Order: sequence, then C-alpha cells, then structure tokens
Amino acid sequence: MRYVSTRGGIDPIDFAEAVTMGLATDGGLLVPAELPSLDAATLRDWARLDFQSLALEVFTPFVGDSIPREELRALIERSYATFSHPEVTPLVTAGSLRVLELFHGPTAAFKDVALQFLGNLFEYLLERSGGTLNILGATSGDTGSAAIYGVRGKARIQIFILYPKGRVSPVQERQMTTVADANVHCLAVRGTFDDAQRIVKSLFGDLDFKSRHQLGAVNSINWARILAQMVYYVHAWARVSGGDPARRVGFSVPTGNFGDVFAGYLARRMGVPIERLIIATNRNDILSRFVASGVYAAEPEVHQTLSPAMDIQLASNFERYLYFLHAGDSARVRALLDDLSRSGQLAVDAEHHAQVRDDFSAASATDDETLEQMRATYAESGYILCPHTAVGVHAARGQGDVICLATAHPAKFNEAVVRAIGHEAEAPPSLQGLFERAARSSELDASVAAVRDQIETTLAEVARA
Ligand SMILES: *Cc1c(COP(=O)(O)O)cnc(C)c1O
Repeated sequence: MRYVSTRGGIDPIDFAEAVTMGLATDGGLLVPAELPSLDAATLRDWARLDFQSLALEVFTPFVGDSIPREELRALIERSYATFSHPEVTPLVTAGSLRVLELFHGPTAAFKDVALQFLGNLFEYLLERSGGTLNILGATSGDTGSAAIYGVRGKARIQIFILYPKGRVSPVQERQMTTVADANVHCLAVRGTFDDAQRIVKSLFGDLDFKSRHQLGAVNSINWARILAQMVYYVHAWARVSGGDPARRVGFSVPTGNFGDVFAGYLARRMGVPIERLIIATNRNDILSRFVASGVYAAEPEVHQTLSPAMDIQLASNFERYLYFLHAGDSARVRALLDDLSRSGQLAVDAEHHAQVRDDFSAASATDDETLEQMRATYAESGYILCPHTAVGVHAARGQGDVICLATAHPAKFNEAVVRAIGHEAEAPPSLQGLFERAARSSELDASVAAVRDQIETTLAEVARA
C-alpha cells in the first residue's frame, strides 16, 4: 500500500515512512492511495476472529510489506495485552442500548486503542532504523496520559508532556505523574494550557532545536491511529450480525477531531455493512453544522463543556474526509483549505453536500442534555455513561438500532457523574491507587527558555546514562 498527501505534494511512500512522517511534509495529511474492498466471504470469515486476529487482517493490506506478518502479529499482541478485558473492546447492552466499550486500556479512554499500538510501532521502526525519538506535547489533561502510556518504558523514545499546573484534574495529573518509567518526563508549567501549547509550538518552530533533538509530536494525526480504530467497527459489526453481510449496523460516535468517526467511514467504504454513522458533538458543533449546511465555519472560540475531549474548534482529521469526498482531488482540497484560512469557512458544492448527508448524520448536545442523558440511562438500566459517551447516546435517540461508542470510563469524569446521578462511578483498577503511588514532575516557569533548558538537561542526562 502506498500513501499520498491530501494536498498532493509528496511522492507516494510506504506504511513505515507514513508512520514516521506523521504530518505530510507539504502540510497535508497522509492517506492510503487506494482502499481494499471486502467481499461477503471475507466479512464472514473475519466475523469469527478475536480482536487481535481481526486487527492483523485489517492491518495487513495497509501495512503491505513494511512489516513481516509474524512481527506485525507480535506488535498487535503486545499492544492489546495491556487491556483489562479479554475482548479488548466488548459490546455490552444497557437496557435498550448497545454500548461499545472502548475504555478498557491502561488510561481508561478510547485513545489507548490507537496509542498502545502506535507506541509499539514507533519502538519497532526505531529499532530497525537505529534512530531515536523525543516526543513533545502539551495536554489540557485528557490526551497526555494516553500518549505517556503508549510509550512508557520504550527503548529509543523519551516523552515530555507539558500541562498547566493546578489546572488539570487531580486524577488526570496523577495518571501522568505516577508513571515511574525513566523515559517519561512530566513538566508542570506555571501558566495556562494556552501557555503550554504556545511553548510547544515555539519549540517545534525552532527548526534547529527540533532536528538536533529528533523532536516528534504526539501525532494526533498519525495514520496508524486511524488504522487501529477501524478494527472495532468491524469487530462490533461481527458481534451484532454474526457475520451475515446483509445485516447492517449504525454507530453513534462522540466526535472531536474526527479521527474516530473517520475510521468508521473508511471501514464502510471498504465494505463493512455500516448503515449510518452519527457524528455526535457537544456545543462545539462545527461538524454537525457542516453536515446540516455543507458549510464548515469556525467559531471565534472554543466553548468549555462537560465533555472536554471534544472541545475543539477545527477538527484535525477533517481534511482527510475532504480528500475522499472529492475523490482524491488534491487541488480541490487545497482550494477549500485556502478558503478556510482566508475567511474562516469553506463550503462544499450541492452535489458533494448531498454526499456528505449520505455519509453521515449529526446531532449535538448541550451540557444540560448531556447530564439529562446520563440521568435517563442510569434510571433505565443502572449503567453510568461518561459525558462524552452521553453526547453520543443523546445523538442516537430515535435513530433505530445504533451501537453507541463509549469513549471513556465514567470514573474519569466523576464531577459530571455526581452532578447527573448524585454519586460517583466506581474506579476501574487502572484508576485505583493513584493517590498512594509516588508522583514525579518538574515545575517550571511558563517560558520557552525554561522548557528548552529542562529538555536539554534531561536529554544530556539520558545520553550519559
Ligand atoms: C479524543 C476523545 C474523543 C473524540 O475523538 P476524536 O477522534 O477526536 O473525534 C471523544 N471522547 C473521548 C473521551 C476522547 O478522549
């Protein structure tokens, strides 16, 4: 399989190069040049496989000859051995709901499904190339821990995560700072999340610093993340259909950066019998408005909601959809993105808007509606939804038989849970004991110089060790 850029500015590359490149060098996103197509017999065969074996089949055409099959199998086994449920992503029922639980990984949120694999993949590829990678990122609380758990203890990788001191929840801070592996460095910055993000941006913009230290991003747009997320759509379809290709299912997907629902879109384009994909947004509803109007228009600012992992202004994976929507016409994608950066909005034409409405339906939920949904589901079945998942369940109402993706364990968001149902959700084992364990972080001024010094001192120590 070859990969190209949504903006058409790179020569085709293979899977290993695409994973290493992260963001395409022309500023676009990497996408497969073509998609495999699944016939009924293949779907029937795949329906009998467990999660890991299914992942191997789904990945194989996309990985091509970048990784020998047995080595790919070992990477997959290692990645999902850290999940606490034997089915990895079990499908459960809660009253009248079907819920696809994606939160049985080490940080109790769905990003583990992709980041556990990505961490192993990085380690494997670095071992082969003899290189090293120093990951730098800023977090407002939610994604930092999933990135840290993806690469903890991995050879040839160091990770530096900045977070605003005193402004992430105590559980989220502990999830990061209690990781004892020597390659994990948590930097508590005396400032806001915006300060932390500005510092990271500035260090990535310092091209000399960046190349001297092999700096890499947490890679929220890495192709391997999308690939890993395709597996549970097939797995869940198989559980419901028993492998009958005539049986179609729908999914409701709590959406922020459009990575998760885009993986579902690709699975459907490959032939997985998916009837509908519901984009569920909170008050940051740019994607819901796009499906309704064909106009993708940024709002002046991000709204803070009870589902913070979905508080985004522009969805970073949206460009990949634009590319597929316009049948790989990179010139058209570039023109639309130019409109967006010039005027803050882009509009697809009527014919393509009709296609968008065919591809997705969409709905958004306010915080009040989110709490009400958590309350209603608990009253009906005793099942506790996390606020992100509740946005998806709200969006699925009246849409028939739909599988709702549960993107985080409710105990990660107990403030919202208490507001909705009056008591906390019980923490899963991965979230227990966090406050008894030793914690480690370096407190720094919110300045580029302080963070740069800290990184250089740390890397010098690592080199000596
Ligand atoms: C990241 C995240 C989402 C949004 O997923 P995208 O791929 O960004 O659309 C939803 N819920 C939770 C809990 C998340 O961490």
